[in-house]
Amino acid sequence: MAELNPFKIAQTQLDEAAKHLGLDKGTHEMLRLPMRELHVTIPVKMDDGTTKVFQGFRVQYNDARGPTKGGIRWHPDETIDTVRALSAWMTWKCSVVDIPYGGSKGGIICNPKELSDGEKERLARGYIRSIGRFIGPEKDIPAPDVYTTPQIMAWMMDEYSKICGYNTPGVITGKPIPIGGSLGRGDATARGGMYTLREAAKIIGIDLSNATVAVQGYGNAGQFAHGLVEELFGSRVVAISDSRGGSYNKNGLNFKECKKIKLDTGKVSNIEGDKITNDELLELDVDILVPAALENVLREDNANKVKADVIVELANGPTTPEADIILHNNNRYVIPDFLANAGGVTVSYFEWVQNETGYYWPLDRVHKELDAHMTAAFHDVHTMREEKGVHTRLAAYLVAVKRVVDVMKLRGWV
Ligand code: GLU
Repeated sequence: MAELNPFKIAQTQLDEAAKHLGLDKGTHEMLRLPMRELHVTIPVKMDDGTTKVFQGFRVQYNDARGPTKGGIRWHPDETIDTVRALSAWMTWKCSVVDIPYGGSKGGIICNPKELSDGEKERLARGYIRSIGRFIGPEKDIPAPDVYTTPQIMAWMMDEYSKICGYNTPGVITGKPIPIGGSLGRGDATARGGMYTLREAAKIIGIDLSNATVAVQGYGNAGQFAHGLVEELFGSRVVAISDSRGGSYNKNGLNFKECKKIKLDTGKVSNIEGDKITNDELLELDVDILVPAALENVLREDNANKVKADVIVELANGPTTPEADIILHNNNRYVIPDFLANAGGVTVSYFEWVQNETGYYWPLDRVHKELDAHMTAAFHDVHTMREEKGVHTRLAAYLVAVKRVVDVMKLRGWV
């Protein structure tokens, strides 16, 4: 089986793009590695009186286009290489949707399911005290990601503001609305993905009102994708899953009912329907597949079995480079992660703009501007795909990397 280290994968993807763009050695090398990274050790007083020590990271990959931007993941399997890969993908993501940011990512090795609210708050504040000098509204702006929530962002923003001695809402995005969050940030990742799906469906000739959909992962992105694909297009979601398995019903799974069962019982496998595994979900005969969980789920060993015409990657890194080639050869249209899920960071950008100007936008403005960014980015990538005859992820890399290179050259770095 090919290498599954996400950072190696991110470098392999970049190498391919560098070849197509004819990058010189120095420029290529500069883009293969993070510019800065910080490793921190965070002591936390636990509820039982003991002190537990957590490891955390913050990686700033490239800041040529602006302050670095990217979420914070809390995950038991977090590693520095996952954070590096995700910070590289943030760089390409901000570039492909053309917002004035570089890319970064943070992570803490922990299992949030085993932490009380008080322990989570102390961990969040401890992390910010550790990385405080490394971040800031003009430097590096964190946001939520896997297992981190608007409440956690609120504690982090508060801790940073205490360090500064004044209120700094622009240091973190994805905050709750009353303390400077943006309307429309909650469903932005999924909504942005839906706008790209709408554009892809027009090109391929899929009638979304008759389409069937499978969604892998039932966190923020997956849940909203289920609701939005029903609401915006009238498509039928026939399968959903979470980390413990999933349910399939060919007549469709109602969003409101699924959301309630997930909330009440914690498991989507409790929903009425045939029980399926996460692997089976990926291979279902549906029109649209939405991977919205974790990395490396579409690989060399299962990519040939994928039957969906369009794959909307709301997760970061769900497809390996080998699987990309197989899916492309099988005529599957992949809307790659850093394009499909860029809606989250795009509305984070709008949130930061609102925080910095102190003027707050109505929801319809957020939706309209998000649509404009996503639609433009989709067509930039699709045009590149047609022009160069390459798979969509490579086309997205060509658009994004070129923009970063152009700025590095203007700045005189390379
Ligand atoms: N964590 C999200 C992502 O991977 C959002 C990042 C942000 O809003 O800065 O795109």
